[in-house]
Amino acid sequence: MSGFHTLSPAERLKLVKEFAMLDDEEAALLAKAGGLDLETANRMIENVIGETQLPMGIVTNFLINGKDYLIPMCIEEPSVVAGASKAAKLAREAGGFRASATDPVMIGQIQIVDVADCKKAVESVMQLRDELLHMLDNIDPILAKYGGGPRKLDARVLKTDGGEMVIVHLHVDVRDAMGANAVNTMLESIAPRIVEITGGRVVLRIISNLATERMARSEAMWKKETLGEEAIDNILHAYLFAEHDQYRCTTHNKGIMNGIDAVTIATGNDFRAVESGAHSYAAITGRYKPLTKYWKDKDGNLHGSIELPLAVATIGGATRTHPVAKIAQKILGVKSSQELAQIIASVGLAQNFAALYAMATTGIQVGHMKLHASNLAVMAGAKAEQIDEIVKRMIEEKNISATRAKEILEGS
Ligand code: NAD
Repeated sequence: MSGFHTLSPAERLKLVKEFAMLDDEEAALLAKAGGLDLETANRMIENVIGETQLPMGIVTNFLINGKDYLIPMCIEEPSVVAGASKAAKLAREAGGFRASATDPVMIGQIQIVDVADCKKAVESVMQLRDELLHMLDNIDPILAKYGGGPRKLDARVLKTDGGEMVIVHLHVDVRDAMGANAVNTMLESIAPRIVEITGGRVVLRIISNLATERMARSEAMWKKETLGEEAIDNILHAYLFAEHDQYRCTTHNKGIMNGIDAVTIATGNDFRAVESGAHSYAAITGRYKPLTKYWKDKDGNLHGSIELPLAVATIGGATRTHPVAKIAQKILGVKSSQELAQIIASVGLAQNFAALYAMATTGIQVGHMKLHASNLAVMAGAKAEQIDEIVKRMIEEKNISATRAKEILEGS
């Protein structure tokens, strides 16, 4: 389809409609804009033909560092919004979440190959690092105005199967941005000087998504009287399971990311950056571990904490171009990327607690199944006014399936 990119969204949609034999109704659904108008969407990515939409739900009850928040989530999975709201409600009884975030420092990497003596090249870069940092003084005046900018430069030798290479790390305080473009621009501007210093050849100059200098943490307590001793002990057993078994741990961390991704998407942030950073950090010791920790205090109350890198922004990327993301930020009332990171970390902890608490008590299916049943009713073709009745009957009959939903709808 040469020239596809030069067409308008409507023209592209016409071609895709013919290719995939979409009917008029399907094509119209694709072209129907929600909060994001098609013209803006067409400027965000390439070859736009339409939009998909996710439900936005509001998580309630969050008290973080003494401040109340309503938290928008965009997600297709049932029970996530309800789970986080419930966990936050229970945590509120003991003062809510106490969260913190480091300065928003991202790491950029420069790879230098074909270096005659890597050890010597590293020494030379380290000797000249002030000069290199100085070269970046005026490169991003906006960032400088808000108190950000380059902070540190390091170099090391990397031994690989294909021989040694030199890796330079540039640390940049990116303030309220995610930082990819700011950091990449800085790397590109110092790369030629690094070539001169090392006598090698630069291959990659790119931000790292393992943002270990941009960490967010949160902690909460859930009271013994509220949860009950048995539930607390079961949660601790579940945590130990995740700590020592990678199959369980992957699902444990997935539950955390349910909440983290949903807020990341709602605020127009790069959820792939957050995901890759989170899982990489979970494995940073060489063993894949839970991003949360749980323990019991001497009075038997349950404590939970979370720690992960969170490269989330309140400026740049889609955070301001997507009109709905802008409104999500307004609902949150966030003033900085650090505050947003604190909220998202707290949501991750709450989400994980909610899943563990449900599994350790009633089992996860009870809550899940009602929403699942309603999805099945919709899939079976039920109209809005028919859904509740079909869901009720399937739950009563303990037979929640696509077949049963269809049968009830057809009156059998
Ligand atoms: P950016 O995140 O680098 O930031 C843009 C600019 O915002 C900064 O240069 C700075 O001048 C300004 N800024 C920072 N804090 C500010 C503040 N408080 N007030 C006013 N301005 C401020 O640029 P970007 O273009 O938004 O880059 C992020 C995008 O890059 C994301 O959408 C991401 O998906 C994408 N990306 C990611 C990767 C990766 O993760 N590996 C790679 C390439 C691109």
